[in-house]
Amino acid sequence: MAHPKRIVIIGAGHASAQLCESLRKGGYGGSITLVGEEAWLPYQRPPLSKAYLLGDFERERLFVKPRTFYDEAGIDLRLGIRAEAIDRAARHVHLSDGTDLPYDALALLTGARVRPLDCPGAGLEGVHYVRGIDDIDGLMPAVERAARAVVVGGGYIGLEAAAVLRKRGLAVTLLHRSPRLLSRVASVDTARFFDALHREEGVDIRLGTTLRAIEGAGRVERVEIERVGVDHLAADSHGEIDADLVVAGIGVLPNQSLAIAAGLMTEDGIAVDETCRTDDPAIFAAGDVAWHPHGRWGDIRLESVQNALDQAKVCAAAMLGEATPYDAIPWFWSDQYDVKLQSAGLPQGYDRAVWRAGDRPRSGSCWLYAAERLLCVEAMNDPRAYMTGKRWIEAGVSPEPEAIADAGTPLKSVPAT
Ligand code: NAP
Repeated sequence: MAHPKRIVIIGAGHASAQLCESLRKGGYGGSITLVGEEAWLPYQRPPLSKAYLLGDFERERLFVKPRTFYDEAGIDLRLGIRAEAIDRAARHVHLSDGTDLPYDALALLTGARVRPLDCPGAGLEGVHYVRGIDDIDGLMPAVERAARAVVVGGGYIGLEAAAVLRKRGLAVTLLHRSPRLLSRVASVDTARFFDALHREEGVDIRLGTTLRAIEGAGRVERVEIERVGVDHLAADSHGEIDADLVVAGIGVLPNQSLAIAAGLMTEDGIAVDETCRTDDPAIFAAGDVAWHPHGRWGDIRLESVQNALDQAKVCAAAMLGEATPYDAIPWFWSDQYDVKLQSAGLPQGYDRAVWRAGDRPRSGSCWLYAAERLLCVEAMNDPRAYMTGKRWIEAGVSPEPEAIADAGTPLKSVPAT
């Protein structure tokens, strides 16, 4: 199959940098144009809510590749410019600088944006989000000035932000809507582990609770909270917390409006096949925005660096006519205080959870099974459990749950079939 002459990439995240690299490594010699709404070169997001927010990570280190990489690879960078519309019949993208960019193959790597707070006072000064470099550059000086923070959302963003704020000496109250932390992304046992960790570190965790309003004269002075669900009518369901900073991490939404306006198929993300191709054969999508079929987990949208990188490789191969269906096992990590979480697989649809104690304080692993098959491992300060579990999941092998639960049985002696 002839290679497309002109490839246009919309979005400048992890997947975009990887796609550029994979296309050139795959022998693609045609033109590549990368359009990014932010003025930054593609950068890594994981350090933003951790070392970068803490002030321990220089900005230069965030960039996935230095500018010289794009120059040497002959990538035409159009940064600080938004793609406004796709004309599929004419095969061009209309940009916010008024130009039309022609393509033979188009990659929509548009990622996701934060879900905004919608309560009264959400626009006050002192309300912050954790998604991009600009968000963190705005948040860091606010942290310097603040003494009492309210973190909204107990997913990884909320928990990582809470850990940094505690390290910076702020009093932290964390509001989470569900009855347990990490409700969308981790097992019950792992959520319990992080609940105990944050309480030990002094975070005031309020589960089943959300914001009713943020109040203050121009800037945040206090928040009004309320219970969620059946408790919301109880006498003690409301209250006020003094705060001078609100940090929200209440999930993200896929950036799919371009695709919807262009009439592409979408679900909770831009629908693609296992080679990252949309229902228009000239248009691809990958990363946080891609709604894709996965051999083990069904149709899914994954929000992770691993998925962005792996799908970008699959997308490059498909653009070059060498389809290699995507079937990577998801993996993920998080750093909070002195705990590193590493997980492989997804904690979805499990019917049995087995806890294995670690060999030091603040360690352990949670092993999740469905119909006696290992589905996921979540390891806290236990890289051996993570690596062994990942290998087993990749090989479709399941360790005996009883032996896993016995921390005295070394992993290498656990029977697995
Ligand atoms: P998330 O995992 O969706 O968690 C957000 C949580 O906030 C949800 O569990 C949700 O509760 C809760 N919530 C929603 N609205 C709320 C409200 N009004 N009041 C209180 N709680 C509310 O998303 P996230 O933590 O914001 O993370 C965003 C993205 O960053 C994700 O893509 C994530 O994977 C990524 N990330 C990755 C890492 C890493 O690689 N280590 C670290 C941080 C973030 P319900 O469950 O009840 O809806």
